[in-house]
Amino acid sequence: MNVDDHAEELASDLGVDKAEVKENLQNLVEYSVPLEEAKRSLRRKYGEEGSSSSEGPTAVDIADVGPDSGNVTVTVTVLTAGKRSIRYQGDDHVIGEGELADETGRISYTAWEDFGLEPGDTVTIGNASVREWEGQPELNFGESSTVTKADDGIEVPYEVGGDRDLAVLSPGDRGRNVEATVTEVEERTIDGRDGETEILSGVLGDETARLPFTDWDPHGEIEEGASIRAEDVYVREFRGVPSVNVSEFSTVEALDREVEVGGPTRMAIREAVDRGGAYDVELVGNVIEVRDGSGLIQRCPDCGRVVQKGQCRQHGEVEAEDDLRVKAILDDGTDTVTAILDRDLTEDVYGGTLEDAREQAREAMDQSVVAETIAEDVVGREFRVRGHLSVDEYGANLETIEFAESDDDPAARAEAFLEEVEA
Ligand SMILES: [Zn+2]
Repeated sequence: MNVDDHAEELASDLGVDKAEVKENLQNLVEYSVPLEEAKRSLRRKYGEEGSSSSEGPTAVDIADVGPDSGNVTVTVTVLTAGKRSIRYQGDDHVIGEGELADETGRISYTAWEDFGLEPGDTVTIGNASVREWEGQPELNFGESSTVTKADDGIEVPYEVGGDRDLAVLSPGDRGRNVEATVTEVEERTIDGRDGETEILSGVLGDETARLPFTDWDPHGEIEEGASIRAEDVYVREFRGVPSVNVSEFSTVEALDREVEVGGPTRMAIREAVDRGGAYDVELVGNVIEVRDGSGLIQRCPDCGRVVQKGQCRQHGEVEAEDDLRVKAILDDGTDTVTAILDRDLTEDVYGGTLEDAREQAREAMDQSVVAETIAEDVVGREFRVRGHLSVDEYGANLETIEFAESDDDPAARAEAFLEEVEA
């Protein structure tokens, strides 16, 4: 085939004038563009560009949207609509985010422009792109997308609106509303993106769970003991547990009822570890070992790290300070965790103060006697342990807040576990 034949073939494929195609093709070939590349370039110029803008992206069901879907058009109901400020290329930008659904499924979204979406709206979103976010497909739409409100709503098998109990929140959730009591709160100064910033951090509780929270734009209604409704919060992972984030876009109001705060969640150790962490859980198991680094220990006065022979990993030779700690391995038959007890809890278990421990170590001329005394007392016995579980590459650690000998009937508990396994 010569250039003339190729031009004729292309012209008929693309439905454009042969003389024009031939001239373009000849020009490109004269500029040493390989013929095949020249043809591809003309196909792009006349063909694919034209066809993509005339046909537009395909309309799809949410259930069929995957990370490789390219650009899509969907008709959906807005389940939740949150706002967040992000810094993008040096500028603050308000983005919308939440969840959308149709009859077939639901999906998270980020809206890079303000389309005024409200929960319950049914909209057709044209030319949205799909990216993967936290392992799931997520719809993104902005300047190059169209959002049109539909007159008729569609029925979706999901709850519209962001109201949720604390127990069901998980990292990645956005546009959520919670009603909770502020059980702890403190003001903190952090070095934020705009220099020193005051924030609030603490703990929220409802009937179902307690979770840590951060308020990045302190709201006056958030006071210790207050019951509040916070709308448009998002959830991130903090030390292995979901953490509620209140932002400048959240609204917080005091409730005229008191939200009761439930107790810790009782879990099997395996279940808590499989979750990757858990805030305020209660585990019951046998202490099978008191680990090295328990009893009378020494800490760096600057960073609090445990030091060996007066040497801090970070600060070198330091004037170390005595402390008490227990690292107890707890086993409930499903898995094990290391329960870490602070000085107060360790003093209870040891039955003496830090000064008593020093005295015992001096007399024995060996500080390991303190850990041995504790081990004699706890190893082989069953305890009910309450605390916050984090799981990382070093294992599962429980920051312990209560440590008490179990008054459970072991037979009854074995039965309960069996029921759970059989269910
Ligand atoms: Zn140090």
